[in-house]
Amino acid sequence: MTPEFVHLHVHSEFSMLDGAIRIPQLVEHVIRMGMPAVALTDNGNMFGAVQLVRTCEANDLKPILGCEVNFTSGDRRDTQNREHSHLVLLASSQEGYQNLVRLVSTGWVDGMSADDHPRIDFETLAKYRKGVVGLSACMGGFLAQEILNKGPDVGRDALAALRDSFDPGYFFVELQDHGFPENRPLNQVLMKLAEDLTLPLVATNDCHYLERQAAHAQLVLQCIGAGRSVREMEAVHHLSSELYVKTPEQMHSLFGYAPDAVKNTLLVAEMCAGNATPLAEPRLPRFAVPGGATEEDYLRALSVAGLGRRMVEMRHRGEAFDENTYHGRLEQELDVILKMGFAGYFLIVQDFINWAKDNGVPVGPGRGSGAGSLAAWALRITDLNPITHGLLFERFLNPERVSMPDFDIDFCMDQRDRVIQYVRDKYGAHSVGQIATFHQLKSRSVVRDVGRVMGMTPGEAGLIATMIPEPVQGKSVPISTALEQEARLRTAYEQDSQAHELLDTAQQLENLTRHAGMHAAGVVISEGPIWDHVPVFCPEKDVYVTQYHKDDVEAAGLIKFDFLGLRTLTVIDISTRLIDRRPDRQDVPFKIEEIPMDDPATYALLQSGETTNVFQLESSGMQSLFKQLRPDRFDDIVAAVALYRPGPMGAAMDKDFVQRKHGRQEVAYPDPSLEEILSETRGVIVYQEQVMQIAQVMAGYSLGGADLLRRAMGKKKASEMEKQKTVFIDGAIERGHTKEKAEEVFDLMAYFAGYGFNKSHSAAYALITYQTAHLKTHYPVEFTCATLTADKEKIDKVVRTVAEARSMGITVLPPDVNESEIDFTVVYTPDDAQDVARLRHKPVCHNGAVHDPMGPKIRFGLGAIKGVGTAALDAILEARKAEQEEQEALVERPFVDIFDFCARVDLRRVNKSVIEALVQCGAFDTVHNAIDAHRAQAFVAIEQAIERGQAHTGRAIERAGESLWADGGKRRGAGLRAPGRQLPCARLLGLPRPVVSREGNARVLRVRAPARPVSK
Ligand SMILES: [Zn+2]
Ligand SMILES: [Zn+2]
Repeated sequence: MTPEFVHLHVHSEFSMLDGAIRIPQLVEHVIRMGMPAVALTDNGNMFGAVQLVRTCEANDLKPILGCEVNFTSGDRRDTQNREHSHLVLLASSQEGYQNLVRLVSTGWVDGMSADDHPRIDFETLAKYRKGVVGLSACMGGFLAQEILNKGPDVGRDALAALRDSFDPGYFFVELQDHGFPENRPLNQVLMKLAEDLTLPLVATNDCHYLERQAAHAQLVLQCIGAGRSVREMEAVHHLSSELYVKTPEQMHSLFGYAPDAVKNTLLVAEMCAGNATPLAEPRLPRFAVPGGATEEDYLRALSVAGLGRRMVEMRHRGEAFDENTYHGRLEQELDVILKMGFAGYFLIVQDFINWAKDNGVPVGPGRGSGAGSLAAWALRITDLNPITHGLLFERFLNPERVSMPDFDIDFCMDQRDRVIQYVRDKYGAHSVGQIATFHQLKSRSVVRDVGRVMGMTPGEAGLIATMIPEPVQGKSVPISTALEQEARLRTAYEQDSQAHELLDTAQQLENLTRHAGMHAAGVVISEGPIWDHVPVFCPEKDVYVTQYHKDDVEAAGLIKFDFLGLRTLTVIDISTRLIDRRPDRQDVPFKIEEIPMDDPATYALLQSGETTNVFQLESSGMQSLFKQLRPDRFDDIVAAVALYRPGPMGAAMDKDFVQRKHGRQEVAYPDPSLEEILSETRGVIVYQEQVMQIAQVMAGYSLGGADLLRRAMGKKKASEMEKQKTVFIDGAIERGHTKEKAEEVFDLMAYFAGYGFNKSHSAAYALITYQTAHLKTHYPVEFTCATLTADKEKIDKVVRTVAEARSMGITVLPPDVNESEIDFTVVYTPDDAQDVARLRHKPVCHNGAVHDPMGPKIRFGLGAIKGVGTAALDAILEARKAEQEEQEALVERPFVDIFDFCARVDLRRVNKSVIEALVQCGAFDTVHNAIDAHRAQAFVAIEQAIERGQAHTGRAIERAGESLWADGGKRRGAGLRAPGRQLPCARLLGLPRPVVSREGNARVLRVRAPARPVSK
């Protein structure tokens, strides 16, 4: 009989630069070795829990969910106390899993040590012990540390305290043996103490890689994490190549002296394996309805009232419509929404969207299939009338297929965080989380990292890294592919032994998870604290990020809301504000949603192809499609957006569409009954919605059933297609069509469904295209200025847009320390300044040139100057207005020369390189032209001016402070803690070489380790 054993202490790649194990390989490996279960105990996190459970389920292995947490015997909230030792926790039941989630989260929420380790303490254990099994962990464990540092007697007290922190029978004394000199003596003490306190033993191997031969690669990985070279690491740490996933035989022979410890792994597996899962049914958060009504009644009332307002607006615009159609569809949609239990979801979404709209945060008109819902339009979640645009609700929520609703919402990039903050305030910070993203060691960067760790210079490693082709569409080229494709790289690999070693090691580490971050757009709202549902980590205080990424977090039952940032909305918003500031139209606020949809000038611009910076029309391919198509109505834009994709273009559908539009190809319909559905696209099946409607009209499908048909066609699953084909043909024959016709139409649909696009999305995005085209047509200078401001941090885009502006005849004035703001601004120089009010606004961009009687010019924004950060800019603008306190009036006092400038600005924030950047880009030119000096002279004077400035203000420049501000002081995202960080097990295992105690004060123990594990 094969000896039995289960691994209870395993670090996957989610131990972040400590573990090199990939979960799918772990599962495969463990099964191959005949083990019935496996645990996952990553450093301070549960990032891999969902992946482990899913992979195990698919392979008939039993997962044990766990975590190796940091522990302090003091108060976890005491940041002065830096103590953190290890403790392994495993979930033995669903309740145990939930407690484990709370334990792991608590460390992040309020147990962070001064050196960034999330810790739990005795208090947390007492609170959440139920269902949790504890193991005493590695040599860095609390128990081992007490024994090693203070002797076996203190160790006994520690063990008793740990024992009392778990339910009886739920704590095990862990034995490990990786060949370190401390292992055996320590195990003797542990065995003795366990016997004294009648506690069970358990043997583990602290697994960090699958097989022995991966030991070196894992060491390199650790060195990347620790920022040390392999040589440095070898000098201070014991190294072991025993931290791999051993066979049961190996474990039995290793622990021949403690057979019970090996056997007990099966006992623990029995207690825990397969007993808990992170997967859960969706739990929708509730919406607090004012006045105590039910969510259902409140949603109905809000939708009906909202639709009423929409109809008033339609009448106001003179649109003709049939009220009953609208009321009927709303009722139908509400029935489905309520029956599926999504009232609360709709209420939550409409609440934050309407808050955003009421508080000046631009929101997109819609995105994805949600734009097909009339209820959403009535609630102002979307801004596109789904009935007039022929958008279908069933494409969004299908009553015949239960799935979660998913509104993707676009917000102005710069103000999205305000909406997330609103949601936090409304539902409580503890109930709102952002979603984790994981970053991997990609081919080029892993080569650089490994090279550094191997002691190569950045130049040497960089040379090899750059032989790997650049990422293609954001996807890294794998090293193996690069070796096949790149002769230079292959030669280096074959002829240079160092390069050979580098590439071999890098390939072993390639694509391992490097760190976790926060998804900017994904937000979850939970009923109660998030850690009642999923574990969290905190990149900064009071910001909670789920430890599961977007798919996993949904699998764990939380509902995701996508707060997407769309730069174009920022451009529209800035344009609107600039337009409102035009001297000739200050009294009438500009509203983008009120522009006419049939404006010939706007269509003329779209047809001209001069559409740089117009949403979705940036590429030359799209511009040329528009030139050929010459769209003259909104439907054309919607169709063009849907057709400009590889699939339809591959099938020449875009060309057919253009030909038919201009009457060069006959517009034919597969069947006369389909003319109404297909006339807007001239007989071409462009949208998924059209497939659904054809099935409805020709074969009597319900729209829900038609959505299932559409899905089957999209997925091209043969068996499902056969079934649907029979249903379709029977239905069509019943409606008086011939079998041949029905077959013909079905095959046609099946062909086009592969290319079909979601019309809801296409129409919503086409609206933004039209809006930006309108702005570019009628307010070209303001639109261009807004684009420059929105892109001001992307120098190459600024350069391109400035060039385009000049070609349109727009004057772009250089930056000027006295005139420029941080953003780009428009200055007006009307032909007839006396008579501004009389000038009727008629600016227009025609044939690529701007005609505007107000004579607008763009002033370059200081924020777009390379090397000048936010802090420096604030200081300059403050200094320009600095005198206003003494004088009553709010006049700016221009800088007279560079000496005046240096005397007035805060030189701690505006350093020499900032001033040099300003002089070089001409920001001082007008200042110095006035006193007849040159840019070169100003440049030479900088040093002297700074010295005098310092003397003038008496402020000493702090050299150290200089570099702090050099990047502008505003460092977004910097300072985020890397989650999952805890002193890696493997480094604790390889503690600094022990000093042998001559006194031998501990009778059994002959080694002494340093007082605390060494932190980096
Ligand atoms: Zn460990
Ligand atoms: Zn450990």
